[in-house]
Amino acid sequence: MSSSRGSILMLYTGGTIGMIRDEDSGSLQPFEFSNLLKQIPELDQLNCHIDTDSLDSPIDSSNIGPPEWQRLARRIASSYHQYDGFVVLHGSDTMAYTASALSFMLQNLSKPVVLTGSQLPIGIPRSDARENLLTTLEIVLECNDEGGARVPEVGVYFEYDLFRGNRVHKNSTQDFEAFHSFNYPKLAEAGVHIQYNDLHIARASTGTFRLEPELDARLGVLSLFPGITPEFALPVLENPHLQALIIRTFGSGNGLTAPWFLRGIENCLARGTAVINVSQCSGGGVFQGQYESSRQLKQLGVISGHDMTFEAASTKAMHLLGQGAHGEAFAESYQQNLAGELTP
Ligand code: ASP
Repeated sequence: MSSSRGSILMLYTGGTIGMIRDEDSGSLQPFEFSNLLKQIPELDQLNCHIDTDSLDSPIDSSNIGPPEWQRLARRIASSYHQYDGFVVLHGSDTMAYTASALSFMLQNLSKPVVLTGSQLPIGIPRSDARENLLTTLEIVLECNDEGGARVPEVGVYFEYDLFRGNRVHKNSTQDFEAFHSFNYPKLAEAGVHIQYNDLHIARASTGTFRLEPELDARLGVLSLFPGITPEFALPVLENPHLQALIIRTFGSGNGLTAPWFLRGIENCLARGTAVINVSQCSGGGVFQGQYESSRQLKQLGVISGHDMTFEAASTKAMHLLGQGAHGEAFAESYQQNLAGELTP
């Protein structure tokens, strides 16, 4: 195969893109990667070299977590200098989490790492898989005027849109347009031509590429709802195993002002657990202090999640805990923009 446009490593993890319907149960189940590639003969026309690899057995992305992120990141890191870019085929359900985790683990990127998948399996005539995969490959191969990668960051490509990986959220189970980036512009839109939004694409890092594989998943989440009781919430706030706890708050970061809740947060912080405020709203972000119902959280030392997605907020916490950051060091790093996930 000619490789004049460059070489790509394509990693297959599973997901709908490579599934077939099981005759007996009627449910979708992963099938072999080689079968998947046979469905796209157009790959031969891209004028590039593609190597492929897959996780041992392809899985539904609902089963993907820190061990798989580490395997993916290590696989990319170990062959980083051999390829011009990387494509990760992944189920859409947790794609935004994997993209966020990779954006923190792969430091000083100067090459594209783009995740894609599909809403319908590739063997189905109306599938979105073929377009998603072929355009992802085009994007990964695209060079800037200096001959470097046009998109040297972790991205998610889905249904004609390229997003920053740690800014994207899956917001539809049924639309082909399954993803949205509420707080950051699209990096590119594919029509007849692919229009790149260069102003919002990260610059290639001039630093040396580095892998930071450690992750610590001793993280909890407490999603507030009107009527939440101390009987449910306090055991979460008192869980001694947690190193960080994300509170999913209302609106711009507002929580209950009930004394039992605030005392619970105070005790949680006193035990050394970092408490992070992430809004349940998809757009905008957290502004602690705008209302009385968030001012007290700020006063207690709750860390603002700013305009991060939940996916970025949770994987960033695992990443920083994995680095051994605790207390003040954790709070300080957490509120910094590490990989374009947060608007400073
Ligand atoms: N359940 C599938 C997965 O995430 C859905 C998809 O691929 O879109 O693996």
